Amino acid sequence: MFWEEKIETASREKLKSLQEERLAETIERAAKSPYYGKLFAGQRLKMRGLEDIRRFPLTSKDDLRASYPSGMVASPFGDIVRMHASSGTTGKSTLVFHTIGDIEKWTGLVARGLYAVGVRKSDVFQNMMSYGLFTGGLGLHYGAEKIGALVIPIGAGNTQKQIDFLTDLKTTVIHITPSYLLHMGCLLEEKGLSPSESFDIKIAVMGAEPHSEATRRKLEEIFKIKVYNCYGLSEMNGPGVAFECERQSGLHLWEDHYLAEIIDPVTGEALPDGEEGELVLTTLQREGMPVVRYRTRDITKFFKGKCACGRTHRRIARIKGRSDDMFIVKGVNIFPSQIETVLMETPGVDKNYLIELDRKEGLDILSVKIEIERNYFTGDLKQLRNLQEDLREKLRHVILVTPFVELVEPGSLPASTGKAKRVVDKRRL
Ligand code: ADP
Ligand code: ZN
Repeated sequence: MFWEEKIETASREKLKSLQEERLAETIERAAKSPYYGKLFAGQRLKMRGLEDIRRFPLTSKDDLRASYPSGMVASPFGDIVRMHASSGTTGKSTLVFHTIGDIEKWTGLVARGLYAVGVRKSDVFQNMMSYGLFTGGLGLHYGAEKIGALVIPIGAGNTQKQIDFLTDLKTTVIHITPSYLLHMGCLLEEKGLSPSESFDIKIAVMGAEPHSEATRRKLEEIFKIKVYNCYGLSEMNGPGVAFECERQSGLHLWEDHYLAEIIDPVTGEALPDGEEGELVLTTLQREGMPVVRYRTRDITKFFKGKCACGRTHRRIARIKGRSDDMFIVKGVNIFPSQIETVLMETPGVDKNYLIELDRKEGLDILSVKIEIERNYFTGDLKQLRNLQEDLREKLRHVILVTPFVELVEPGSLPASTGKAKRVVDKRRL
């Protein structure tokens, strides 16, 4: 059941005292870096408990950029063994530096998460995320190898080769982005292969971009597999910060490695337990580059109560989106994930969509382009019109704005093998 039972099921008191001890170490260590050294100058570094963290300023992605390339490194450079970078979804990428100890700990965390969803030594693990600077490749690679699985470091893209390996090596676990898995589903059908019958896949570990519960269910249905959510960001190592367990009811955030806060993204104030807001994380065990109160910009909340699996680390809800993903149309706040949920729950909708925002004569226009299953285009026009009308109504009900709905053939929207771009905002161009 557990990779590290003792720590995964430690009592809340034990976890709290571990966090206190490690937070104190982290603050002192961070102060050794040029960036935090300057920022913390004149501050009392001694910690009197976890709440004391609020005395320290938040760290933003811009702060990381300002300290480019290595202003937050707290270890002698000779001890650094690896560098990673964020994908740069929202601008210039930021760099993160690791010691050998950091890599080992990260590996252990990923192994813990993979084990929790049933990955074992006997598995064949096909890692369909990009290798290189992006953390989804090497991060999961090392964790799966630690468990003893056979790891295929194929990376993202090259779908025909993916299919060959899936078949020839009888891959049982894949690690993939939701948009690429949806795209794979399309390609397989085009090739006349059945996603649910052609392979031996049992588990997909999915992460790197927001996706809805409806998308997970749809993928589980198409491939007849179990799909588990894995969350992380390069500033906090990468994937493995929080992982679902077999119960699929929230992601356990590993509190022996991270101290989590939820803040109001606008005011920066701490929010009461259980309220939705922006996740802020502090590394508790990192040597090379400790990061204090990092604003992830990811919107989530903590679940109340214990998980039936026996793990005591608190669970976060799947990420609703990034605070900077949210867009405002006619004054209404909308997350792409709200639109995605409607689409993926509607029969007839295929696997890809695109949201476009424009402004005409001072008025915002929201259009959603949706790929529809091929058979709808051979049937009568009325069926298509009904579906279009139905989608428009359902979307209006959820997002409170009436969108233009355009139905397109499968495969006609830009496909993605990495992080998908779901929103094109022409208003800012
Ligand atoms: P970038 O911030 O440039 O995209 P990263 O590669 O570090 O760089 O990506 C981390 C981000 O990816 C997270 O902050 C989050 O927004 C998103 N992400 C990662 N895993 C998930 C997940 N399971 N669900 C939703 N979003 C995720
Ligand atoms: Zn659990």
